[in-house]
Amino acid sequence: MSIWKAYTNKINYNCAGSGNVKDMDYWRNNLFATSIIFLLPFCLIALAPGIYFCIVTQKYILAIVDILTVTAILFIAFMPGINLLVRKVLFFSFVVILSCALLLYGGLPGPGLLYLLAGCTFSILIFPTTYSFWPAWIVTGICILFGIAIFFNAIAFPRQNLASASEWVAVSSNLVFIVFLLAALIPRLFKGLQETLDKEKKLKAALRKQQEELQQALHQVQQKNNELEHFAYVASHDLQEPLRMVTSFMGLLKNKYGDQLDERAHTYMNFAVDGGKRMQKMISDLLDVSRTGRGNAIKERVQLGDILNEIQQNIFKLIEENNVTILIEPAHTVLTVYRGDISRLFQNLLSNAIKFRRKDADPVIRICCTGQENRWLISVEDNGIGIENDKSEKIFEIFTRLHAQDIYQGSGIGLAICKKIAEQHGGNIWVASEEGKGSTFYFTIQK
Ligand code: ADP
Repeated sequence: MSIWKAYTNKINYNCAGSGNVKDMDYWRNNLFATSIIFLLPFCLIALAPGIYFCIVTQKYILAIVDILTVTAILFIAFMPGINLLVRKVLFFSFVVILSCALLLYGGLPGPGLLYLLAGCTFSILIFPTTYSFWPAWIVTGICILFGIAIFFNAIAFPRQNLASASEWVAVSSNLVFIVFLLAALIPRLFKGLQETLDKEKKLKAALRKQQEELQQALHQVQQKNNELEHFAYVASHDLQEPLRMVTSFMGLLKNKYGDQLDERAHTYMNFAVDGGKRMQKMISDLLDVSRTGRGNAIKERVQLGDILNEIQQNIFKLIEENNVTILIEPAHTVLTVYRGDISRLFQNLLSNAIKFRRKDADPVIRICCTGQENRWLISVEDNGIGIENDKSEKIFEIFTRLHAQDIYQGSGIGLAICKKIAEQHGGNIWVASEEGKGSTFYFTIQK
């Protein structure tokens, strides 16, 4: 096997050229090299009986031409440092010489004409299109020369049964006709193939360019996103300090000088402290959102049931107080996730499902996980108050709430965090809901 590999490598190196662009020249050279690869062993196998036949029939010159042809093919295959075109010309020349020898010493109706046709067809295939008529003209010249030789009885052909020059013309003109026909038709086929290859090359180049542009744009977006997240993080982090100062000095002001101020001033101060506190909460929520997914955690394989058991322990009181039923199907599914983040996502969805419960029914939450091609689709279905249809996209935006604070408390960041976590896992999140009947939150994560 390794000998065969070394052998084919050597011939490919010498006869297939170095072009790795797959155009027509590549395939012409490839065809040439492949035919030499297979021709050589066949020639060597056929050499011994051929020489034996020549010696038995006393055609010694034919035996010499046989040996010469095989030597020439060996030379073409293995001689280093020769131009590929020269190798092809040598190959064609030896086929022509062999054909002429077969005509001269094997007889005019023998295999000589067949060899001429085969050699000529092969040459049209392996030479560049500009040379495709050359073999046809050379074959025509040879036929004319033989015609003249027959006409003037210049050569004594063995087993001569093409009696006259006119018979030779009748026979050889067919060969000339076929050869010219092939020289005209094969390049047309090649031209069509070349055009297809060119088109494919152009399309591939355009596609590559588009992919590069897309990659670049993606990179830029990612960079901007990182910058933005960093900005949000730094801004919210740094804003906390001066705000803390404002609220604590307001508190001091109230404690120390409260008795010197009238009721209106107290009301104003209460508003200011209240506003400051709310702003503090918003900033810490913002910080929370921008912190999500920033850690260096690594993904781990974890059972869906384990994550949910943990959460049920965390919100045990809430579950008990509201008489909640939680169903998981199937609990043994193993997910590869950032465990802390996915727990948080589930906890947000479960807390919401309980918080936004209907007064007239105990909450029932059904969690399903189904495997799709390369992702998991997870749904969290509740029988709560539901969501208005046109709000189903808005609720995933940060600080978006559909209810007043005194009806349902909250900060409006839970679902924004869920969205971020789903995206961090290569998926997305959405909701399907019917007002008054319940909601189903769906999210996907990559497997
Ligand atoms: P929060 O719960 O703090 O208000 P979220 O971002 O978690 O903030 O939710 C945003 C809004 O989406 C909620 O205020 C509520 O109006 C709506 N919502 C979320 N989950 C549900 C649910 N399971 N049923 C009905 N409404 C919901």
